[in-house]
Amino acid sequence: MIAASLTPREAPPRWQVELAAAYTDPAELLHALDLDPAWLPAARRAAAAFPLRVPRGFVARMRKGDAHDPLLRQVLPLAEELVAAPGYVADPVGDLAAMPVPGVLHKYRGRALLVATGACGVHCRYCFRREFPYGAASAGRGAWDAALDYLRATPEVSEVILSGGDPLALSDRRLATLLAALDAIPHLQRLRIHSRQPVVLPARVDGGLLAVLDATRLATVLVVHANHPHELDAEVAAALAPLRRRGITLLNQSVLLAGVNDDAAVLAELSERLFAAGVLPYYLHQLDAVRGAAHFAVADARALAIMDTLRAQLPGYLVPRLVREVAGAPAKTPVVAR
Ligand SMILES: *Cc1c(COP(=O)(O)O)cnc(C)c1O
Ligand code: SF4
Repeated sequence: MIAASLTPREAPPRWQVELAAAYTDPAELLHALDLDPAWLPAARRAAAAFPLRVPRGFVARMRKGDAHDPLLRQVLPLAEELVAAPGYVADPVGDLAAMPVPGVLHKYRGRALLVATGACGVHCRYCFRREFPYGAASAGRGAWDAALDYLRATPEVSEVILSGGDPLALSDRRLATLLAALDAIPHLQRLRIHSRQPVVLPARVDGGLLAVLDATRLATVLVVHANHPHELDAEVAAALAPLRRRGITLLNQSVLLAGVNDDAAVLAELSERLFAAGVLPYYLHQLDAVRGAAHFAVADARALAIMDTLRAQLPGYLVPRLVREVAGAPAKTPVVAR
């Protein structure tokens, strides 16, 4: 302790402090929300397979005493996750077959996705990568070299997508190193970042991150991930504003989730709030059939009916595209009436 005060070290940024303070114990989360401890045994069992993680600021947007709060449902481990469902598997989107080198997913023309880290600020129970073998297949821990070599050797790729996990879980220093290496690859034109952190941990968008983004020559797109209007509070809007002022294109992707946002009024309100924060809706994903997530599934017929209602209520640019990921397909596949 004394030594620490004699040799002052740089204090960690606020977002890292908040991240470290995230709830990881289901008992603490239930207590904070005044919920019945009867939920605890199942939560512990489900969390053993995929741990609970949720930042306190996100929990503060939930309604106390409501076990069906739409934000809580996205993060609370439930007994339903342990029920086997036919067709729900560990790698539903064929990721492991589309990985030319560890940490690079190259499925679509012109775009390559870099699994920059396995870490996330929040653990979403429906996550299609909940069983992804990040240890073997992420590009972190010095293993970016192989991924960067692949990008250098593949001039077909003009857009690199940083994904994960959550690429903004990387420190500014690591992100700056990665972006500098990408900048130096002449055929890259666009940088896309897929991150949930501006929504679940808005403190992540700080001066350090903005400086990192200011330094890249690549045209930058940030795709955030919000599923319900309650996720977007004033703090999130304030975090997005400086990104927008920098000319970064801001888009949102959502997952259609039973009991969370399978309702046209909820999705319409989400689009309105996104727009107010400078973000356009991009994709509404049909759930990937990952093991443990079957209870979130919404049938295509219902999804299409919700889309019809949305289209009748909103300007076209506020209607997301309903898609699903089909292993081996050349793009995200539109969900259409059959
Ligand atoms: C979803 C995805 C993309 C991006 O697809 P867009 O339609 O351009 O948003 C790129 N690569 C992989 C591997 C993906 O899963
Ligand atoms: S933030 Fe994205 S990658 Fe991370 S757990 Fe949620 S859905 Fe999965």
